[in-house]
Amino acid sequence: MPSGFNTIGRKLLRSVALPGLFTALVVVALFWRQAHVATRDATHDEALVLAEFVDATFRLTTPAGQAPHAPVAELLAANTRLLGSTMELNVLSPQGLILWSTQPQEVGLRHPAAALLTAPGPQWARSDEHQTEVLRPLGDKACEGCHAGASERPVGLLHLRAAEPVVHRELSDALMGALVAVFVLGSLLIVATGTSLHFFLVRPLRRLMAAMRRAEEGDVLVRAEAGDSDELARLGAAFNAMLARLTSMKAEEIDTHRDLEETRHKLSLKEELEERVAELGLLCDVAHSLNSTLELPEMLARITQLVPERLHIPDFSIMLVNADGLLEIKRTFPADPVLEGMTFRFGEGICGRAAATQRSVYVPDVAEPSSQYARRDERPEHERGAILSVPLVHTKTVLGVLNFQRPEVASFSPQELELLTTVADQVAAAVKNALLHTEAVRLTLTDPLTGVPNRRHLFTRLELEVARAQRFGTHVSILMVDIDHFKKLNDAAGHRAGDEALRKVCDVLRARVRKVDTLARYGGEEFMLVLSNVSKKDAHEVAEKLRRAVVEAPQLAASTQPGGHITVSIGVATLPTDATAQDNLVDCADAALYASKRGGRNRVTSYEPGMEVHPDRERGLSRPHDPSAAPMAKA
Ligand code: GH3
Ligand code: MG
Ligand code: MG
Repeated sequence: MPSGFNTIGRKLLRSVALPGLFTALVVVALFWRQAHVATRDATHDEALVLAEFVDATFRLTTPAGQAPHAPVAELLAANTRLLGSTMELNVLSPQGLILWSTQPQEVGLRHPAAALLTAPGPQWARSDEHQTEVLRPLGDKACEGCHAGASERPVGLLHLRAAEPVVHRELSDALMGALVAVFVLGSLLIVATGTSLHFFLVRPLRRLMAAMRRAEEGDVLVRAEAGDSDELARLGAAFNAMLARLTSMKAEEIDTHRDLEETRHKLSLKEELEERVAELGLLCDVAHSLNSTLELPEMLARITQLVPERLHIPDFSIMLVNADGLLEIKRTFPADPVLEGMTFRFGEGICGRAAATQRSVYVPDVAEPSSQYARRDERPEHERGAILSVPLVHTKTVLGVLNFQRPEVASFSPQELELLTTVADQVAAAVKNALLHTEAVRLTLTDPLTGVPNRRHLFTRLELEVARAQRFGTHVSILMVDIDHFKKLNDAAGHRAGDEALRKVCDVLRARVRKVDTLARYGGEEFMLVLSNVSKKDAHEVAEKLRRAVVEAPQLAASTQPGGHITVSIGVATLPTDATAQDNLVDCADAALYASKRGGRNRVTSYEPGMEVHPDRERGLSRPHDPSAAPMAKA
């Protein structure tokens, strides 16, 4: 407790004991003052009586033969007790000369008091400093016995200075003693009061206050002393009861708090569970959406629709590694033709870093210089926002990158990063499946030796073209191309050289056909070209152009062949000119080809009605040889 603390004890001392002491001192002082005045008055009266007495002695008759004042001296000597308090007694002449004195050596000297009373009249007296001085004229009729005519003029002055009587001094001392005693007693009273207050009031109060302070600081288990039965003890007991109530309330509060925490925990678990369910739902939808197609473009379209919609990502793009090994933007949301097709190298920009490291790259703010954001696109310089690039990795191979972007800075939560990584894994697996599917389809529809569509693909396309031509009333022409004397080449140079020659012939043909036309390997050393919306005459011209291209191609020079060069024979047939159905059309082309063969080879023949079919075909001996394709179902 601080030393300057205003304790109740000190307050009581100040408000009760000190005023009491002060009052006692004032009372004593007043009493002392009254006693002093009374003493002075008594001294004064005594001095006057004494003067009267001395004066009376002057009326004594002086016996004959004695000095005039002998009786006076005698009387005074006899009353020494009375005069004990007399400090000075003089008889002065009217001029103030000392005629007689209790101090004989002063006789004849001038006394200064004589100037105070120059004419007969009433006596003069003053009291001061515990003594009284009296000046009384002498010279009335009583003096006429010794002093003739004394009544007409003063014969002298009686001067008397009397000290305060001893009893009065003792009274003063006693009063002083009483004063000291009052002071000492008062002090003792203060000490006693202070001690009592300390033990009975201040100390219990301090303990109670200490207990209260500890309770205030949170220690509700503290208790005040309550052993006695006084008010403070009862206050302590009441305080303890209050604390007990508080303790139980605190316990209830702790219980409530714990229940609350438990509920909160359950709630957060529920929320987390809901989030997980939502995430799982999203992953399910993504998986379902991805697995519902194996066509890569459709799959990319679905991802581009689903991810921004379900994950609330306003800016999304999907990149795939293209044939050149670059990251190519395949799809964007919102669709942006400027961005689509743009390429990034591995290590270039955020997406490039993700692909190069095979790890997600998250940049909370693209405006930060440290983000090393590659500004290859047309985004404004001041653009801000968060970007996340997640690589599409399948069996440690990067297939592409998913880019998620939001305009808000640091707007991807750790949970979202995790979820998007999982989505990317799913997308990677689906993309890989789609790529495998595409490759498988390509393989099933492509001739492995030449790379052009195989017989299966050819007939699918032919069906489509025939159907279109029938529907729109247009033409579709086919060219049946057969290498001349190919067996000779095989026999002379071997099958490997034969394969090489096949590839070269195919390349020469492929280089000269339109994109809308379909060049396919029909089987063995035969090719078929489907010309969409081309008349018979034009088809013949195309065939002639191709034949010439082969015969003029320097790379097709072959010593094994007649004429030292590889040549081809071509049969042309057109729908609906020569046939009305696909099967008839092929037969017509076949017949025209046979006509070319019979005509001497290295020539083009358009079908003419009545042309005979190749005898091997008719017998089914010359079924086209195509290792990559299933046998043609010939109608
Ligand atoms: P023609 O002028 O009458 O057409 O004579 P040709 O020798 O070309 O005709 P033929 O039908 O008698 O022979 C076709 C040959 O083509 C038979 C076969 O060995 C060969 N051949 C078919 N497919 C392939 C192939 O994929 N590779 C190789 N090297 N040879 C093939
Ligand atoms: Mg043949
Ligand atoms: Mg041949």
